[in-house]
Amino acid sequence: MREILLATGNAKKGRELAQLLGEGWAVRTLRDLPSAPAIIEDGLTFEANAVKKALTLAASSSGLILADDSGLEVDALGGAPGIFSARYAGEPADDARNNALLLDRLATVSDAARGAQFRCVLALAADGQLLRTFEGICRGRLLRAPRGANGFGYDPLFVPDGYAESFAELPAAVKHEVSHRGKAMRQLFEYLKMQNSKCKMQNCN
Ligand code: IMP
Repeated sequence: MREILLATGNAKKGRELAQLLGEGWAVRTLRDLPSAPAIIEDGLTFEANAVKKALTLAASSSGLILADDSGLEVDALGGAPGIFSARYAGEPADDARNNALLLDRLATVSDAARGAQFRCVLALAADGQLLRTFEGICRGRLLRAPRGANGFGYDPLFVPDGYAESFAELPAAVKHEVSHRGKAMRQLFEYLKMQNSKCKMQNCN
């Protein structure tokens, strides 16, 4: 069983990352480490924030660390809320208030102009060093009212391209197949596979 520390205190995001990792991983999150340093997400990009989260934890924890920085980019809002997605409606972060504010800002936007995308950057670190980052994007459109109870964040408002249901109506397995996070995670698996076979060739463990 490989051990990995997820640099998130968001229980629902943590659960999704753990599901995507699948069996064979012993997963811990920041909820298991109450003494972990607070991480201020002050980067200007998803990548900068993901790297900061991963490296902050890597400085005090050994083993593999995985950080996810992600959010919703809305075409009609010039890419907002973007890196501010979690706290779009202010502190403390609240999904229902974020969704209500987003609907309000899009009230006069036509169906044809309600395009949006989720973006996820994963940063993988080990032994104090950044190993690599991975990015996934999922395009879709935004509804006029929330639908469904699965998932988290903006899932009840987001319908991925090729589907009629929102992410909050689709089963988790379908979301994982098409989502920004699923796409980034599959690149991470490819990377780990490559590292593993390099390691086997060089007899490194
Ligand atoms: P972070 O924890 O700073 O990366 O903020 C992520 C925020 O982006 C979440 O709190 C959600 O508001 C939004 N978000 C990211 N990924 C998803 C997703 O898969 N579904 C719905 N909302 C998401």
